[in-house]
Amino acid sequence: MIEELSATAAELEAASSEEILRWALARYSGSIVAACSFGGPSGMVLLDQLLALDRTVPIFYLDTELLHAETYAHIRAVAKKYDIAPIAVHPAIDLAAQAQSYGERLWDRDPDRCCGIRKIDAQRRYLSGYRAWISGIRRDQTSARARTPVVEWDRRFEIVKINPLARWSEREIWSYIETHNVPYNPLHDAGYGSIGCVPCTAPSTGAETRSGRWPGRAKTECGLHQS
Ligand code: SF4
Repeated sequence: MIEELSATAAELEAASSEEILRWALARYSGSIVAACSFGGPSGMVLLDQLLALDRTVPIFYLDTELLHAETYAHIRAVAKKYDIAPIAVHPAIDLAAQAQSYGERLWDRDPDRCCGIRKIDAQRRYLSGYRAWISGIRRDQTSARARTPVVEWDRRFEIVKINPLARWSEREIWSYIETHNVPYNPLHDAGYGSIGCVPCTAPSTGAETRSGRWPGRAKTECGLHQS
């Protein structure tokens, strides 16, 4: 399986994002989902391209219950514009139960555990019924993502992962958004390059778009893309 996917990734390396999506939709028809965090511009391009090809693929986001009010409003606006119903994937426990089990503000003391509960475990449960998921991550986002293949075996979730935008640059993403009038999270206009949960997101401080995530910590990933 892994060798087969590596060969496919090599074959599709020069393909356009739409061609990669077409291949994935045909190969995993009926058992593929797409992730959109609504907290970054790439996910919006992915959603726009996907919906032009297929409107039956479930589109999900991780509702940690800690997203910005602007992000929730953005999700509602996108749902209305595209006439879709994004699926909110929730953690197994709500914030009150988390505080009872692990103490208040777990994100301040142990953000890896908090992400594990509110993002990774939730996504694992959701993906367990599918064969493939589509992500909007790109190689230029962080050094950890620099080798992202366009198709891969996701060991963390034990499922095929499709990254149609892996080769795209930040500039190309924003150019597409402008050209195609794609909606984006309004917090980008306030200096936020990448938007996650309220307690762990600040405006970007450096060249990397994810520099405002977990400010003051070495942590740069929630773990969803570390296969
Ligand atoms: S980003 Fe922060 S608040 Fe959100 S799940 Fe991770 S640690 Fe918790």
